[in-house]
Amino acid sequence: MKRRKTRQVRAGKVAIGGSAPVSVQSMLCAPARDVAANVEQARRLEQAGCEIVRVAVPDMDTVRLIPVLKEAVSMPVVADIHFDWRLALESAAAGVDKIRINPGNIGGDERVKAVAEACAARGIPIRIGVNGGSLEKPFLEKYGRATPQALVDSALYHAALLERYDFHDIVLSLKASDVPTMVEAYRLAAAACEYPLHLGVTEAGTERMGLVKSAVGLGALLMEGIGDTVRVSLTADPVREVRAAKDILTACGLRNEGAQLISCPTCGRTRIDIIGLAAKVEPLLASVKTPMKVAVMGCAVNGPGEARDADVGIAGGDGIGLLFKKGVVLRRVPESELLDALMAEVRAMDEQNRKD
Ligand code: SF4
Repeated sequence: MKRRKTRQVRAGKVAIGGSAPVSVQSMLCAPARDVAANVEQARRLEQAGCEIVRVAVPDMDTVRLIPVLKEAVSMPVVADIHFDWRLALESAAAGVDKIRINPGNIGGDERVKAVAEACAARGIPIRIGVNGGSLEKPFLEKYGRATPQALVDSALYHAALLERYDFHDIVLSLKASDVPTMVEAYRLAAAACEYPLHLGVTEAGTERMGLVKSAVGLGALLMEGIGDTVRVSLTADPVREVRAAKDILTACGLRNEGAQLISCPTCGRTRIDIIGLAAKVEPLLASVKTPMKVAVMGCAVNGPGEARDADVGIAGGDGIGLLFKKGVVLRRVPESELLDALMAEVRAMDEQNRKD
C-alpha cells in the first residue's frame, strides 16, 4: 500500500507522519483531578500497546498531571485544551509532548503567536482538532451544515493562523460521527495539504457500534494510504480503544506483531465446540510476541487446507482433532488435549523466535 506523503512531526519519542508507522493513541477518562486514577489508567494503556496518551487539561490545577504522567509512563503525553491559551503555555512549560488546541478559538493573534512560539521553542507539535459537532459559525453558515468541505475549510483556517508565525508542526483531525462525512473530509484534507492526519470517528458509540464505525471509517482511509495516527473513540474502558485500534491496523496490513487468530465460522461438519475453543485461545494469544497466524478450524476435512496460510492450527474431529503447521498435519490429538497441544506449539514457536 502506498502511504500518503506527509510532513513528519515528533511528539516526544514518537514520529507522526513521513515514513513513521501509524501510531495508536487513546485518551484518559479518569476525573481530571484524580492523579492516582489517571496514572493507573495511563499505565494500563501503555501496557496494552498505546503509543501516545492524551489528557484533558480543563484548568491550571490539572496541568500538574503532565509531569506526573511523564514520570509514570514512557509514551508521549498530549494536553487537550479548549479555548484557554494560558493552559497551552503552562502545559508546554510542564513538559508536554504535544498540544491539541484550535488556534482560532483562543482569542486573537497575540495569543496564537504566544502559543506558536512556546511550542516552537520546545519542539512541541500542535494538533488542530476539528469536530463536526462543534464547527464554527462562519463555516456552518457558508455550507449549511458540517459538510466534509466545511470541516476541511475550518481545519485549514486554524492551520493558517499558526502558519502566519511560521509554525508548521501541525497535525490535523477532522472528526465527525457520521462515517461517510468523516471519510470524505479526510480525503479532501489529504489532497489539500501535507500535514499528517490523526484519524478518528467521533462519538462513535459504545464498544460494538463504535468499533464497527471506526473500523469502516479508519479502515477505508488507511487502505487508501491516508492516516498517520489513529484513535478509536469508544464509550468504554480506553484500553479497549487501544486493542480495537491495533486490530484495525493489523486487519489493514499496517501492523504485523503478535499472534492473529484465524477461526472458521463452523458449519454442519463441526463436531466439537469450536466457538468455545476459539474464545479460549484468543486471550491466551495476547502474550505472544512473534508475528504468527494461529488457526482454530471446525473440521479435519477442510480445516488444515482452508487454513493453509496459518503457521499453526487445530482442526476439530469427532472426539479427536488434528494439530497442523502450514497446512501439514503433525499429529492427531484427543479433543480434551487440543487446546494444550496448540498452545504448547505456539509458545515453542514464540520462544524459538525470540532466541533467534
Ligand atoms: Fe465448515 Fe470445516 Fe470450513 Fe469450518 S473448516 S467452515 S467446519 S468446512
